[in-house]
Amino acid sequence: MKLIIFIITIVILYLIYQKGWFTFFTKIIFRGNDSKKTIALTFDDGPQPIYTENILNTLKENKITATFFLLGANIEKYPDLVKQIISENHEIGNHSYSHEKLFFKKPEFIKNEIRKTDELLESYKIETKIFRPPFGFMLFLLPFITKQFEKNIILWNINSKDYLGLSAKKISGKILKNVKAGSIILMHDGRGIKGGNRSNTVETLKIIIPKLKAMGYDFSTISDLPLK
Ligand SMILES: [Zn+2]
Repeated sequence: MKLIIFIITIVILYLIYQKGWFTFFTKIIFRGNDSKKTIALTFDDGPQPIYTENILNTLKENKITATFFLLGANIEKYPDLVKQIISENHEIGNHSYSHEKLFFKKPEFIKNEIRKTDELLESYKIETKIFRPPFGFMLFLLPFITKQFEKNIILWNINSKDYLGLSAKKISGKILKNVKAGSIILMHDGRGIKGGNRSNTVETLKIIIPKLKAMGYDFSTISDLPLK
């Protein structure tokens, strides 16, 4: 049964992404326009003390805006960081409440995960139109549900894999080698709802920003990223 659902999912995701089958499902975006040298830095799982602040400071020094996919549970814990992200003009996306995989979950569970985080953001007067599933995992049910919430699903085409414990030098090298026009780069300022060390991500950012600028790239939030 699970295999059948998986195969149906692959077919539907193909139809949504390649054929623009958006009547019942939301858009799934992996990248922006590949003829414009604009890229989007995205940070998942925050906010989290120290790391989110350090990342915000680096972005500010470089006059760059980015997108933070926040977890509802962490929004509750760290309201001051949410306020800082907003006041510094970054975009906020919904990354679920508890970071549980939304694979083979009942519709009500998925809706609750999205709704709880939306409600928390509403108290900051933020109404986000973008959702990133935990771990990027989804079946066809998710784009069907996000349509009801009027949110596009945002994935990435460059995964920094900053969660593997690699050095900042290694993470940077991989990003700089693979980046291209329209790239959406996945990084992390948090680690699930438990949190964890993200100093390599902070260091990576300091390495890649000047190099990406020298390569002629501009930076954008997801909603301002030119699409194809
Ligand atoms: Zn995540």
